[in-house]
Amino acid sequence: MSKYETVIGLEVHCQLATKTKIFCGCPTIFGAPPNSSTCPVCLGLPGALPVLSRQAVEMGMRASLALNCEVRPQSIFARKNYFYPDLPKGYQISQYDRPLSEHGYVDIEVEGVKKRVGITRVHMEDDAGKSIHDGFKDSANYTYVDLNRSGTPLAEIVSEPDMRSSDEAFAFATEMKLLMQFAEVSACDMEKGQMRCDANVSVRLHGAEKLGDKVEIKNLNSFRFLKMAIDYEVERQIGILESGGKIVQETRLYNVDSGETVSMRSKEDAHDYRYFPEPDLLPLRISDEWLASIRNVMPELPPARRKRMLEDYGLREYDAGVLTQTREISDYYERVAATAQDPRAAANWVMGDLMALLKAENKEVSESPVSPEHLGELIALINKKEINGKQAKEIFPKMVATSDSPRTIVDRDGYKQISDTGAIEKIVDDVIAANPKQVEQYKSGKTAVIGFLVGAVMKASKGQADPAAVNELLKSKMA
Ligand code: ADP
Ligand code: ZN
Ligand code: MG
Repeated sequence: MSKYETVIGLEVHCQLATKTKIFCGCPTIFGAPPNSSTCPVCLGLPGALPVLSRQAVEMGMRASLALNCEVRPQSIFARKNYFYPDLPKGYQISQYDRPLSEHGYVDIEVEGVKKRVGITRVHMEDDAGKSIHDGFKDSANYTYVDLNRSGTPLAEIVSEPDMRSSDEAFAFATEMKLLMQFAEVSACDMEKGQMRCDANVSVRLHGAEKLGDKVEIKNLNSFRFLKMAIDYEVERQIGILESGGKIVQETRLYNVDSGETVSMRSKEDAHDYRYFPEPDLLPLRISDEWLASIRNVMPELPPARRKRMLEDYGLREYDAGVLTQTREISDYYERVAATAQDPRAAANWVMGDLMALLKAENKEVSESPVSPEHLGELIALINKKEINGKQAKEIFPKMVATSDSPRTIVDRDGYKQISDTGAIEKIVDDVIAANPKQVEQYKSGKTAVIGFLVGAVMKASKGQADPAAVNELLKSKMA
């Protein structure tokens, strides 16, 4: 294997989260009754004219900025001609030689090694409808066409062939998804087809200058399959080259059940799309002012957020990674940290107790039974020494069960930590008097026995004493 180097370039389709379709006013809704969200434009009826959606363009601009691309002052829509039953116009309206934006990059990290992957271009296009193959019945094969998806705006993002392993491709796709989510371009729900990847894969001898002939694997709808498909394809290509064969340039599909890629069409059968400028749409002009107005409202993206978590909050790189896994987790964490006024403790609680809870209840962070403000308040109560850590661990499940604030639970269930030193001192004296053997052991140098004595005081205080204060008192009294 190490004789060869893997080369990968990805093409990612990302559904833009607009309210309406790109060239008509039909709502972009998922799961509506078939063909209920259609009109003459997205049905491709003759004579119907497209009108470009401003919101779609702005989302395309956001995607471009998130990917560090240069947005072109003028881009051109082009017809990409091909026949498919779920493409009634007979062409897709896409962009060709003058796309929305170009020359960007995404930074990724694999096993501690950072790397920059170039973005060739981002262009906009309309999605096709869906064919639903319903199988054989009543002595006929049925296929239904649902055009609700027809005209849904897509951004197609094309990377440079900069990735060198399936792990890098996985990291790239993951970061791409995060960027699109944080930039509020798309929810990127892969199960709803909001994000789809095509992987271009080739191998070459290490040190070779020219790229090898590539194979395109189409329509990978999960990152796990993306990685598995690339791994399979790399081995297949190396096998062919090692036995003296040549790679056929073709489009292949990944078969999830067999774990293999299979040929879909060869280069000879490739479509000639006969691209030409779309005569029904004017060139898309984006002024500096328009672009600046989008740049000004861009939300903070994961790279900047991770940096802030490291530098301002003093989190570890691993924690910053976990806490920027999704936009929701990141926002939740920031609200906990702000309420608690303690970013490190907030990170521990969110990554520990909260994530364990969500996992156990199979919930998203947006469905968390504990609000970030309540969790932050719990941490603040510990820091103000009103309760101790052990009590907090008892209060947290009560917050989950009742959605009550920690303050309410503390007051109602009598959780207040005893901060009155007089009261603690009395208990400490009692415990010392009741355990002469352990006190003797402590004084003779077996200092570990203090744990037993602290435990006895905590028990006598019903868990309400501050363990650190108890420790100090015991030490000073036995010195
Ligand atoms: P095509 O003409 O087949 O559309 P492009 O040059 O436009 O090919 O590239 C399409 C995608 O394939 C891009 O993501 C690019 O990075 C990737 N790519 C191009 N050549 C190779 C190669 N030899 N190996 C792997 N990926 C490649
Ligand atoms: Zn429509
Ligand atoms: Mg191309």
